[in-house]
Amino acid sequence: AIFGSERPNSKGLNMNIAAESRPFFAELDSFKETQWQAAPLVDGSPILCGDEMPVMSPQKLDSQVGKVHFADAATIEKALVSANAAFDGWNRTDVEVRAQAIEKLADLMETHRAELIALCTREAGKTLQDGIDEVREAVDFCRYYAVRARKMQGEPTTLPGPTGELNELFVIGRGTFLCVSPWNFPLAIFLGQVVAALVTGNTVIAKPAEQTSLVAYRATQLAHEAGVPTSVLQLLPGTGALVGGTLTADDRIAGVCFTGSTGTAKVINRSLAGRDGAIVPLIAETGGQNAMIVDSTSLPEQVVTDVVQSAFASAGQRCSALRVLYIQDEIADKVITLLKGAMDELHVGNPALHKTDLGPVIDKTAQENLNAHIQRISKEGKLIHQAALSDECGNGNFVQPTAIEIQHIDQLEKEHFGPILHVIRFKAANLEQVVNEINSTGFGLTLGIHSRNEGHAEKIADKVNVGNAYINRNQIGAVVGVQPFGGQGLSGTGPKAGGPHYLTRFVTEKTRTNNV
Ligand code: GLU
Repeated sequence: AIFGSERPNSKGLNMNIAAESRPFFAELDSFKETQWQAAPLVDGSPILCGDEMPVMSPQKLDSQVGKVHFADAATIEKALVSANAAFDGWNRTDVEVRAQAIEKLADLMETHRAELIALCTREAGKTLQDGIDEVREAVDFCRYYAVRARKMQGEPTTLPGPTGELNELFVIGRGTFLCVSPWNFPLAIFLGQVVAALVTGNTVIAKPAEQTSLVAYRATQLAHEAGVPTSVLQLLPGTGALVGGTLTADDRIAGVCFTGSTGTAKVINRSLAGRDGAIVPLIAETGGQNAMIVDSTSLPEQVVTDVVQSAFASAGQRCSALRVLYIQDEIADKVITLLKGAMDELHVGNPALHKTDLGPVIDKTAQENLNAHIQRISKEGKLIHQAALSDECGNGNFVQPTAIEIQHIDQLEKEHFGPILHVIRFKAANLEQVVNEINSTGFGLTLGIHSRNEGHAEKIADKVNVGNAYINRNQIGAVVGVQPFGGQGLSGTGPKAGGPHYLTRFVTEKTRTNNV
């Protein structure tokens, strides 16, 4: 079997069961004041180059979480030279050894779960539930890719040899991969990229998002502790301009794995194309302008539950999040009334509290841009509702969950990465136009559909060009090995993360024909 049965996904934690949650909260509490650090880790040694910068919590801007040093040009060069030198040995290491180190990393993350969740909460403003899910996903990526790599690289494939020749196909690593990851999944996506590259025999230079260097540093330490050689995984916290700019232009990089904005993916693509050296792969997972189509046969209560989850969970800071709700005229008023009520139930506040549904957005710039968008678009359209911020929000980077009615998806211009839901009413006769409108954005990440009209939802799913379509449920939280995740068009190159083909882009193939 490709999925599931070969490897169970990790278990979460039910915070509503006291016997599970009490020891967890006690452990979490012990990290309330912890100060973490991050710096380039070259061959396992922290390089304290440049200025030491404080890392402040997005939730409480005067609360320090740790400190960070960003990589400078000399450190980047050192890391690259060492990762390049380590490649041949690591690539020739038995896949079993590599897979076991990655599985050990998964075990270590489970042992350090409370610390990692505390770190995600304090550095990235993640809610506890998001922190729990984040660690689970990171663990699942490790175990899933370990299994896939064994299958793909364990033994060469013997091919037919009609003339008596022995034909064998070998699957091997490519060289040094650059992994550039986002702040919205500072552990899961950071490690998902890194372990996919490592387990297949590549060495890695990891460049985490500037906002979440501390999580990446701790994860890298755990990878080294698990048995990934320090020369094989180098960490370079730093700016996109310097670390990303330098390395994507360098011929010694054999592939890039990137999750972030479509604009940055194109910059990387141009940089790789401008090099003198080899043509190398770019695996890009980028943004979306994700829609949900709700027809009049849907159950309004279920729709509202799924809309709130899809649009506002993680403060809307998921690539998969719902941005545009298309709702059929006949049930629009009913759904909107229920939606307002459900939004008023949301607790926006301290992400470290069990009751919190939405924490802050990542930084001041994000907060200002989202609020500016709300200002602009509610003048063009009509403000439906905004949920209140609790007293805990203080000076943090919080944005009110907001619903706004608009006329056309084009009014959005770009992806707005936060808790803002746009609503468009449509008439049954215009469904085809809705589908065309969604396709015309050029994005193609997630789509939600609600309908109890048999066969109808499947037809819509078939016509909309997206990577992940979800029927009669929410459209976030793809599960490793269950809903491989990633889009098409402006949303990414594929192959899908957490899917059976993901590792194929990290490797190269060699056929050996032996006229024995
Ligand atoms: N895999 C996540 C989900 O299904 C989204 C990943 C992202 O935001 O990049 O919600």
